[in-house]
Amino acid sequence: LLVATGITCRFGGLVALDDVGFRIAPGEIVGLIGPNGSGKSTLLSCLSLGRRPDAGKIMLSGKDISRRRPSTVARMGLTRTFQDARVFPELTVLENVLLSRNWTTLPRFGALRGPEESVRERADRLLDLVGIRSMSATHAGELSGGQQRLLELVMAIMPSPKVVMLDEATSGVNPALILELADHLRLLHREENVSFVIVEHNVGFVFGMADRVVVLEQGRVLADGTPDEVKANQEVIDAYLGA
Ligand code: ATP
Ligand code: MG
Repeated sequence: LLVATGITCRFGGLVALDDVGFRIAPGEIVGLIGPNGSGKSTLLSCLSLGRRPDAGKIMLSGKDISRRRPSTVARMGLTRTFQDARVFPELTVLENVLLSRNWTTLPRFGALRGPEESVRERADRLLDLVGIRSMSATHAGELSGGQQRLLELVMAIMPSPKVVMLDEATSGVNPALILELADHLRLLHREENVSFVIVEHNVGFVFGMADRVVVLEQGRVLADGTPDEVKANQEVIDAYLGA
């Protein structure tokens, strides 16, 4: 579904990503972990073309998207959330969700699940799935950090993407609610037939959710395997998990 090869990204003299390969299959959940500054967020930015990589190639559904604009890439089916939740605080929850569909829909993307479901119905259903539908009329700025994360999640899924990339979805979420967040994600995953890339500091969350885990260290892929393989990988333990 998404295949990236040789992704290199520099900030001046700093090599943030060095020849990184990344792939995700339809319906797969891939966890992306690694120490602070290892390049996780930069990789999401490159894959979603928010930042154009200095080298490398990114294929989405067999099409080369390496030179496309981020809005085009979103229309083609790849959306993301940000490490700092980005919602419009002065708009209501429902307005945020409706807006998120608009900006990726024009002109041709955004197949709804059958003609019987209107945009509004889809918004209501997704908000219901993550448990914040009762807050539809609340200004997004009044939500808790965790609720804003859920709203962002709904906004990313609203346009029916093929891949959603979540940058630190659990950060700022009350530990007691993280299990709930995991349930919501699983539900959305099942209902929406979407692939997830989850970038996390919470490695327990990743090992519990992901089909496959990629470990970045200093801009390179240190390991790529099932949660059990990665947990048992001595290099990963030494560089990251053991710390
Ligand atoms: P964290 O776990 O702290 O979120 P990360 O794995 O997401 O870290 P990145 O944010 O991708 O790491 O950063 C990778 C490297 O690139 C770091 O050394 C960082 O300082 C650098 N970097 C990231 N964004 C920029 C930028 N806009 N300008 C300059 N350097 C940057
Ligand atoms: Mg980051």
